[in-house]
Amino acid sequence: MEREYKSFYKAVGGNEGGKCHYATRLDTYGCGCQHDCSYCYAKSLLEFRHNWHCMEPSIADSKKIARKVKTLRRGDFVRLGGMTDCFMPMELRHRVTYNTIKALNDQGVSYLIVTKSDIVARDDYVDVLDKDLAHIQISLTCTDDGLYRALGIERAVPPSRRVAAAEKLSALGYDTQVRLSPYIPQFIDVERLAQINCDKILIEFLRVNSWVKRWLDIDYSEYTVKQSGYQHMPLERKLDYIGRVRGFERVTVCEDETEAYEYWQKHFNPNPNDCCDLRKKEPKK
Ligand code: SF4
Repeated sequence: MEREYKSFYKAVGGNEGGKCHYATRLDTYGCGCQHDCSYCYAKSLLEFRHNWHCMEPSIADSKKIARKVKTLRRGDFVRLGGMTDCFMPMELRHRVTYNTIKALNDQGVSYLIVTKSDIVARDDYVDVLDKDLAHIQISLTCTDDGLYRALGIERAVPPSRRVAAAEKLSALGYDTQVRLSPYIPQFIDVERLAQINCDKILIEFLRVNSWVKRWLDIDYSEYTVKQSGYQHMPLERKLDYIGRVRGFERVTVCEDETEAYEYWQKHFNPNPNDCCDLRKKEPKK
């Protein structure tokens, strides 16, 4: 049974909203995500309310989204997907994200796409992505297809397809990043990572709560910093693991834990005013 996703537009507040430069989110689907990742923050928030339906997420109404987008101003910015992946397989049936991108283009509103899918790099989607407005982050959690299948921590396309998508979009001139999200060092072969033809990478470490511990079976002994209900790796361990990442011209860190957030802003991120390090252009008149 199809359900309508009504709360598709949100400005995120609190600890996360205060740190994130792109806290306005437009979710074309909701109440679940077909990728159903074991470490998913949205899943951990919704599961205990029995509101996570990974097999049948709710679907936003394209016409209502278009009306909302009409109220935005040229130069505004939204993140496509915060509580779901807007390019999960059901997008090919419903096309809500496709229609939303067209509406955002018409209104001159920029958009950040974060996805574990390669749908965004299909020719029909590339045809509608506006090079001045679109910013794309392709998330990777693993660099090997065989290991990825064995781990069974996501139901998204294998890493090789995501890498191909990132390389295609980057070669076409789109503002594209590989997003290690979450960066779980034991799943990443840094030599393979260095071979990806994309000049930008964003790193986000795993944050752990009791739900994630239940779903994701890894060694948590390094996650010793506790803050706001989550466990994080200490800054010195993060610095060590980031030091192993090579082959990218621009490396930036997305962070939730306060001490580390301040460190990245002051001493590491190439753009201290934007931890996503997006290549933004002035809006067209
Ligand atoms: S793709 Fe993103 S929103 Fe979807 S389950 Fe994975 S982490 Fe959650």
